[in-house]
Amino acid sequence: MSTADNRKYFQAADPLAGVPLQDVPKEGQCVEKTEAEWREELTPEEFRVLRQAGTERPYTGEYWDTHTAGVYQCRACGAELFTSNEKFDSHCGWPSFWAPLAEGTVRYLHDRTLGMDRVEVRCANCDSHLGHVFEGEGYGTPTDQRYCINSVSLRLVESPAGQ
Ligand SMILES: [Zn+2]
Repeated sequence: MSTADNRKYFQAADPLAGVPLQDVPKEGQCVEKTEAEWREELTPEEFRVLRQAGTERPYTGEYWDTHTAGVYQCRACGAELFTSNEKFDSHCGWPSFWAPLAEGTVRYLHDRTLGMDRVEVRCANCDSHLGHVFEGEGYGTPTDQRYCINSVSLRLVESPAGQ
């Protein structure tokens, strides 16, 4: 997605977000596809969440209660984003992680939509919406953070047995 298209995308998807321009990836730095290409590749629900920053209803996603060992990839581009080692039971209805797989696999945007002040989490490789990250909720995890991620933004690749 070009910077100009990206800016249009943010304005169309989220007019109140006030996304600072410096957070828009520079041209050529991430997977670039047109909206039509994304629509062709993704299901309508995947498109709504990943490309329009939607949210799946809690307790309806595929992975909110999953304990299977494996790696969670971006549903849009296949980049490895999270692992089951950092997944924990938050009972919030969405898959929750206390850290991403590695620094730089996700990026953050200030999100002021819906009258809230939140930090949005996006795939660093394709700029698709993943969810939000919250801090200081007292879950007792190593980082005291909760990456609250939509199941539909992820695809679990199970670890081979015995690993
Ligand atoms: Zn991605």
